[in-house]
Amino acid sequence: MDYLKRAWAEIHLDAIAHNYKAYKELIGDGTEIMCVVKADCYGHCDRAIVPYLENELGVRKFAVSNIEEAQRLRDSGVKGDILILGYTPPEAARRLFELDIIQAVTELPYAKELCGFLGDGEKLRVHVAIDTGMTRIGIHSESIDEIASDMLSILSMPALSVEGMFTHLCVADSDDEGDVEYTKAQIEKLMSVVDKLKERGQTIPCVHYLNSAAGVYHDRTRSDLARLGIILYGLMPNASLPVPIKLESALSLKARVAQVKEIKAGECVSYGRTFVAPRDMKLATIAIGYADGYSRLLSGKGEILINGKRAKIAGRVCMDQLMCDVTGIDVKANDIATLIGKDGDDCITADELAAIYGTIGYEVVCGISKRVPRVIIKDGVEITAL
Ligand SMILES: *Cc1c(COP(=O)(O)O)cnc(C)c1O
Repeated sequence: MDYLKRAWAEIHLDAIAHNYKAYKELIGDGTEIMCVVKADCYGHCDRAIVPYLENELGVRKFAVSNIEEAQRLRDSGVKGDILILGYTPPEAARRLFELDIIQAVTELPYAKELCGFLGDGEKLRVHVAIDTGMTRIGIHSESIDEIASDMLSILSMPALSVEGMFTHLCVADSDDEGDVEYTKAQIEKLMSVVDKLKERGQTIPCVHYLNSAAGVYHDRTRSDLARLGIILYGLMPNASLPVPIKLESALSLKARVAQVKEIKAGECVSYGRTFVAPRDMKLATIAIGYADGYSRLLSGKGEILINGKRAKIAGRVCMDQLMCDVTGIDVKANDIATLIGKDGDDCITADELAAIYGTIGYEVVCGISKRVPRVIIKDGVEITAL
């Protein structure tokens, strides 16, 4: 496949298969996996990954964040269930119905609004969100009776088919005692709603609360579905808390060396003259910058791998280029630098970069920009670039 070998991301489908299977084995057969493929598969490339999950790994359920993402999956031939976890303007209700998409319902008034945009005989599939402590979306009340009562109203709406009910856990990735208790309380609250509805003769077909972290750290027995996101891509939900399965990260970020030169002590490098060479040194310019999603916050701090060795970024990361200290490293123009991923025995993870500038691996991979081609690799062979 043809793509510009300036800066690119390699996406390893085999790693995704490995992570999927390892997670599936851990959580057991009783819990179905819904692959969370929002934000272009966390920056990895949904058009390549989702058909692979569906056709080769047998995944039947997917979750996205909005209707555009759902539409793109349908356009690329995805047949399985697609749940939109986030907000869709109610006036798009009919489009949702026509695409056979499942919409998350945020609260009772929204359910009514959706109905207002659906025609006779149209039945939109929905999962109702229950707010158990994330305070983001979902029916929000301290009272289980009130939540159950809103649920019953939604269940009675002829234009909606309530296929599921779910909650989202906000500290499932923490082993702090208070957080563990909080997570338990969130799960209990959801289950109390389930019980209350049962008393009223209503059973919700699919009740779910697991995200990646909850599936590895918490009670997974009462969730009909696991909404598997970050672990699918081989990143940890919490970089400082080990997971009981071995993960393989699916993404590597690479770029070419544009120029190598010797500079003298006292020469300054990049915008703002923040880096002044403390000694004579060898400097390489790499063809990647913050417009590719390699954060400017890594200026002077990040490291990259070149020919198996670590090189520290010198001065500010520019829009399309960055410089690094390659003193003592055997490197020439056109060589390949690794910004995320393995080179030789060393590896730079998205989590390592995230820690430098105070974010999480999720944001690092989601931030890799559109102009970076995703080179899809399967069984060690490049199959396409998107
Ligand atoms: C993004 C998201 C997930 C997936 O979370 P991970 O931590 O990536 O597994 C699950 N559920 C909801 C509601 C989400 O928004």
